[in-house]
Amino acid sequence: MTVAIVLFTSDLRLHDHPPLHAALASADEVVPLFVLDKGVDAAGFGSPNRRAFLADCLRDLDAGLRERGGRLVVREGDVTEEVGRIVTETGAGTVHMAAGVSSYAQRREERLREALAPAGCRLSVHDAVVTAVAPGAVVPSGSGRDHFAVFTPYFRRWSGEGLRSPFRAPRAVRVPDGPASAALPSRAQGVSPGLAEGGETEGRRLFTAWRRDGLAAYEDRHDDMAGDATSRLSPHLHFGTLSPAEVVHRARAAGGPGAEAFVRQVCWRDFHHQVLAARPAASRSDYRTRQDRWRTGRAAEDETAAWREGRTGYPVVDAAMRQLLHEGWMHNRGRLLTASFLAKTLYVDWRAGARHFLELLVDGDIANNQLNWQWVAGTGTDSRPNRVLNPVTQAKRYDPDGAYVRRWVPELAGVRGSAVHEPWKLPRREREGLGYPAPVVGLSEALTRFKEARGLD
Ligand code: FAD
Repeated sequence: MTVAIVLFTSDLRLHDHPPLHAALASADEVVPLFVLDKGVDAAGFGSPNRRAFLADCLRDLDAGLRERGGRLVVREGDVTEEVGRIVTETGAGTVHMAAGVSSYAQRREERLREALAPAGCRLSVHDAVVTAVAPGAVVPSGSGRDHFAVFTPYFRRWSGEGLRSPFRAPRAVRVPDGPASAALPSRAQGVSPGLAEGGETEGRRLFTAWRRDGLAAYEDRHDDMAGDATSRLSPHLHFGTLSPAEVVHRARAAGGPGAEAFVRQVCWRDFHHQVLAARPAASRSDYRTRQDRWRTGRAAEDETAAWREGRTGYPVVDAAMRQLLHEGWMHNRGRLLTASFLAKTLYVDWRAGARHFLELLVDGDIANNQLNWQWVAGTGTDSRPNRVLNPVTQAKRYDPDGAYVRRWVPELAGVRGSAVHEPWKLPRREREGLGYPAPVVGLSEALTRFKEARGLD
């Protein structure tokens, strides 16, 4: 009787799962294992919202395995030790897992390989599970570079890469009797009240509904903040309850400009993953330094606190920050303009903003979060590193009738017309009656400060 272990990490699904597929094809019995890894919390990456979503995912994965005659084995502790224990208990000859990109994931792989070798157990690491195209599978030709630093040429090459056809979910999974499982975690208190539901079943339901109702209009509507017309698949892609390769495959099959624009966004996800895989330090350090000397001190701290709490006095910024607090998710346009507001208008270190996002975002992802923050701060891969988004212009363009602001900033719910985006223009008595803060900083003063700091004319 041969036994293999499938170590689930950011791939909490049964459909299109290459490690599970390989394990079932080569062993009589399979241990589907998830380790509640203490190292993730120790690395400062745990967050109540993501832990709650993870609990949903594990429950659903276990249920899916049970329908197929198996079960999920959950352990808590150090991932290397727990895998080692199960190898000893079951005599497993191979551990299958998805390749990860962060420095944490890369170290985890190394540690597992070293620990398993003496026990005669092989580690089989599968590419293109967490991303549609594996990092490093496409590199700039003839340049000697190990990754693309610019999105558009990456997108061109990525689009030409063949994708595998998605694997079906297995019909049956035989799990050995032995390995005991810890209890499945459950949703704890203290999460954002509007947090989405996790799990593969929910992810697939959302994706089906999205292809039917949202995809075709995506190109036209993705920036409509009030319309909320993006897929909201990001937490499912982050936890791997949806396979990115399958998402691309099916969107391409649907065809049309909406699908093309959507696939391009999913490519951004792969793009940031291949940057991080090649430059793991970019999670902490500037990818391209601009010699910034970010503001510190009391005023900067107070303004950052106002930003976190959604009371900067700029309605669209505050609306987006409050959406983040309430849902553990924020519209992409909101992420762009709130990040620009912190890093450029307030000129506060992007790491402070990235930390706050990671604390709350249910899709909070080292590759996507840190590298998008760097992109916006101008220390990353943006070819226009000094662009500053004006929150009023942005609001008028992407929330033209103010519905997004009125939804999230109840103080402004009764303000009519474009004053909802510029309440400081209201007559004084009216303005003071709102109970809404005055702007923390003037935009032109902030722009001058930023230009001076970056040495621009
Ligand atoms: P859709 O518009 O439906 O896009 C489909 C999918 O494409 C998304 O689910 C996502 O996986 C991917 N995608 C879209 N835009 C981007 C992008 N710019 N970069 C990378 N992938 C993208 N995304 C995360 O998944 N996790 C994060 O932690 C994260 N942090 C961000 C921080 C900042 C400052 C910014 C500007 C963007 C961040 N994003 C992050 C990217 C993007 O905002 C979200 O992926 C998107 O808003 C999720 O909503 P959706 O699923 O409806 O996206």
